[in-house]
Amino acid sequence: MTAMTHERPYGHWPEIGNPFPEEVAREVYRYEAVAAEHVRAARESVHGPSWERRRALPSSFRTQLKKAFQVLDQSHRYVLSHLRRTGSPVRCRPDCSHCCTQMPSGLTGAEILFLYDGLTVAGTVESAFRRCLERQEIWSQLSRWHPPGTARTREQELTRRLHQYHGLHIACPFLKGDLCSVYLHRPLPCRMHYSLSPPSWCRPSHFQHPHAVRFNLEPGPVVLEELDRLDAALGLQELSDLLICGFLEFVVNVMEFRPITWVE
Ligand code: SF4
Repeated sequence: MTAMTHERPYGHWPEIGNPFPEEVAREVYRYEAVAAEHVRAARESVHGPSWERRRALPSSFRTQLKKAFQVLDQSHRYVLSHLRRTGSPVRCRPDCSHCCTQMPSGLTGAEILFLYDGLTVAGTVESAFRRCLERQEIWSQLSRWHPPGTARTREQELTRRLHQYHGLHIACPFLKGDLCSVYLHRPLPCRMHYSLSPPSWCRPSHFQHPHAVRFNLEPGPVVLEELDRLDAALGLQELSDLLICGFLEFVVNVMEFRPITWVE
């Protein structure tokens, strides 16, 4: 099962047949180098003491991070057009939410910060916080409902819980109707998850779900290493990498419900 997550080592191509041709891989690498450059510029704009004391960041930080995600989106569109030309069209649409019952995982703190800022601008932090608390309660109960079986490593245990959570068919707290309410600020695991099979097959309750063909266009190391450096500059390395838990920790422990202060 392909979950909405990115796991190290990064940079795997989707296992949907032949590897991408060399020229496609080269072009993707070029996109990723540009995205990494934007993340680096965001990191270099951080003034440590201002962030520490006032949770203040320069507005160029937001611009650079937004550009990084936009370039990664462009890279995905390039790969998807290659897949379409070669007879493997992706079936996902912006208004499709069939995969939005997963718990996105593998997030960096920078992705959570970007999401938090989007919610702040929309004035929906508190309502999102309440919905995330409800989901976290369910998540934390999973280990009680399903005591660990044969899982031996932390990764295996996490994978087991992610699959179980998905099977509960609980909507993401950021889903409104069938639309992602944070679409422009959604994290990378949501941006890079695609399906070649009919969208409805992505639902665990669908009888064809075991045959769904999904894949993740994971960013390469050049991007993820820069995101890790950015997290280190912001002191966000210890946040949970699960969307819901990481978001709650960020709101309470990092921002203390304050907005980010943007300075020119
Ligand atoms: S953040 Fe948006 S895209 Fe991601 S799972 Fe939630 S509703 Fe879906």
